[in-house]
Amino acid sequence: MAENCSHNCSSCGENCSSRKAESMKKAPHKLSKIRKVVAVVSGKGGVGKSMTSAMLASASSAAGFRTALMDADITGPSIPRMFGLKQRATGGKEGILPVLTKGGIQVMSMNVLLDREDDPVVWRGALISGTVLQFWTDVVWDDVDIMFIDMPPGTGDVPLTIFQSLPLDGIIVVTTPQDLVGMIVGKAVKMADMMNIPILGIVENMSYITCPDCGRKIQVFGDSKVDAVALEHGIANVVKVPIDSRLTEAADSGRIESFPDNYYADFFGRVASTLGMNK
Ligand code: ADP
Repeated sequence: MAENCSHNCSSCGENCSSRKAESMKKAPHKLSKIRKVVAVVSGKGGVGKSMTSAMLASASSAAGFRTALMDADITGPSIPRMFGLKQRATGGKEGILPVLTKGGIQVMSMNVLLDREDDPVVWRGALISGTVLQFWTDVVWDDVDIMFIDMPPGTGDVPLTIFQSLPLDGIIVVTTPQDLVGMIVGKAVKMADMMNIPILGIVENMSYITCPDCGRKIQVFGDSKVDAVALEHGIANVVKVPIDSRLTEAADSGRIESFPDNYYADFFGRVASTLGMNK
């Protein structure tokens, strides 16, 4: 046990024998049924973590799985906008109900609770962590095969609370070529090891552009290092997603779910089979 142990495992990263990891897991709402939970993480903002979460949820739903998407990026929620969700969450005696996308993905986000989507959330960490936990404990998720969690970027207070409190089945790491890929993935691997959660794959977003004239792939940020880093950590599932202005356009206009070429479809298929999900 660490010196000066306060017996409060939630504020401590020490991996000691008296750690009460399992006992810190929260139960979902009693009416929720959620089979698999996957967190989408990144080292910093702006790398396409929400895009990845949205596209993975869309790929999962298109593959016939009952899919949920929890937007845990409380201060920078972008999921409702990407799916064109204008409605607000409703609640009843039993709890809060997620909103549904056109294709039936269940979504909960701070932005479906606010009066206006441009209202800022100026809250301290504890309040933000508490809200994310309520997205798990107080929302009635209806029979979900797989839930994706769009995490806040980095390894701060809120991601730590989610890692410790929710029964995650795996993590997907999103990076870009101009990121320090080795360091970002290394940190994610260590965090995942500490929490005993497998890394299900790495997404290299904005990996290249395709020349509109000759179709050649141009690596604008130089040679990709993601394959070497994945190999080093024994991670077999990697996808490289191009910079595609149609993606930005689809996200900005709320039509991400019907994007025609889902770059993540095969990647999601490998995630699903690793998790033992069959269709
Ligand atoms: P994060 O969640 O990591 O902060 P987002 O998913 O919100 O990042 O993406 C940041 C911006 O980049 C958004 O405007 C999004 O539409 C755009 N974007 C993300 N990935 C791509 C891509 N592969 N091609 C084009 N635009 C992208």
